[in-house]
Amino acid sequence: MTDLLKPCPFCGVKLEPFGHDRNTAGEVIDVLRHPYNDDAETREHICPLSGLVFPADKWQNRPIEDKLYAENEKLKNDLNSVLSVLGEIVDEARTQDPFGNSEGMALIFGAIRLLGYNIE
Ligand SMILES: [Zn+2]
Repeated sequence: MTDLLKPCPFCGVKLEPFGHDRNTAGEVIDVLRHPYNDDAETREHICPLSGLVFPADKWQNRPIEDKLYAENEKLKNDLNSVLSVLGEIVDEARTQDPFGNSEGMALIFGAIRLLGYNIE
């Protein structure tokens, strides 16, 4: 179970199993504890959740974060699709302009660089 636990949204640390408790319905639930980050040099670096205890089901329930991860994954896939198409366009354009000096090629290379990628 601990391998599937979400990290702390503030410091990224993994929570530790901290036994069990009962919820308001009387059901036994897993409980997690945020470890103290003793290696923090000053109090400013200590995670505000250090030492706190959370019901595991509440800790794992992050609909906004899950939605953002899904959206990020979709955007990465879309970006890879765009880069793939741009790569095909560049390959095709190189057959007509082997030195890549045309205005169209410059725009494509500029767009790719703007995205933080590089096509040689
Ligand atoms: Zn933390």
